[in-house]
Amino acid sequence: MATLAEPRLAFSRVPHPAPVPAAARAAAIADPGFGKVFTDHMVTIEWHEGRGWHDATLGPRAPLTLDPAAAVLHYAQEIFEGLKAYRLDDGALALFRPEQNARRFNASARRLAMPELPEEVFVEAVEVLARADRAWFPEVQGGSLYMRPFMIADEPFLGVRPAKQYKFLVICSPAGNYFKSGAPAVSIWVSSDYTRAAPGGTGAAKCGGNYAASLVPQAEAIARGHDQVVFLDAAERRWIEELGGMNLFFVFDDGSIVTPPLSGTILPGITRDSLIMLAREEGLAVREERYSLDQWRADAASGKLLETFACGTAAVVTAVGRVAGRDGEFTIGGGGPGQLTSRLRERLVAIQHGSAPDPHGWVKRLS
Ligand SMILES: *Cc1c(COP(=O)(O)O)cnc(C)c1O
Repeated sequence: MATLAEPRLAFSRVPHPAPVPAAARAAAIADPGFGKVFTDHMVTIEWHEGRGWHDATLGPRAPLTLDPAAAVLHYAQEIFEGLKAYRLDDGALALFRPEQNARRFNASARRLAMPELPEEVFVEAVEVLARADRAWFPEVQGGSLYMRPFMIADEPFLGVRPAKQYKFLVICSPAGNYFKSGAPAVSIWVSSDYTRAAPGGTGAAKCGGNYAASLVPQAEAIARGHDQVVFLDAAERRWIEELGGMNLFFVFDDGSIVTPPLSGTILPGITRDSLIMLAREEGLAVREERYSLDQWRADAASGKLLETFACGTAAVVTAVGRVAGRDGEFTIGGGGPGQLTSRLRERLVAIQHGSAPDPHGWVKRLS
């Protein structure tokens, strides 16, 4: 759906009548966990057919009023993004490659027949909110402000077609380390009964519907004593795709790395893209090619495969230690975080925190 050519959106500011008092805020962010503490403000921008984007507002965070016939509640026209504001070593806050989130958001919008938001408006919306709620930054190990931009179809209409009315929002959640004990190796369950995305489906879009469909297989993984589910391709049930919300990398004894290609059924992770670049800069050969479950098991047994890790914004880089599925279980390397996994994680985290040079201009400082 085309976006109307619009003049620059100015954000209006609605003052908060009663922000959370400093003492209560300090208590809330002392051990924030993930996704359960929220800040004082949110951003909203409206879109109507014929009018385009309008009414960009930074205001108090509050429940939404939605007509019960709002299209999102029935046909799941919804997309989202996730990115973090980090504390740089010099005290400033910064976002990591936010323009990539803006670009991916629009790719998701196109797939879900939703209007695109100009990339600079997306980035400004995230910045405006992070600045307004910077006092919520949790000064804990691995702490960040997790920013959640999303868009819903709020037109009250039960016919099945793209809605004519949407709302874009950004909310902000102070977060601690995704994993309580830092970055242990996770144990993953290969789902043989369920897939995440089929060719021609919405696997490459960041939409809530993909997550809704992953909850049963994820619950199955937990019930069997594992941390995460890993999905195989829907056509042959043979090729490894990704976890419910993280991309995968395989490290071999000849120094090469393989990650599944972006063939339309995998979410193009920004962490994935960044790690590919960092690994190539280290002189490692990174191949984006298909890798099968059978090969994974055989390579782990022969010792050809040294490490496997998963990556995404929430947990950055996480080692995979154990893999189990219908045909049994295998261990990767020593079962804990491998050398390259740890080194790539440290390199990326150092760039994100401004303690290493940033030759690609990935870090966007908030003034
Ligand atoms: C968001 C997401 C990722 C990771 O993307 P990042 O940009 O690295 O955070 C991976 N897989 C799925 C399914 C996702 O939704």
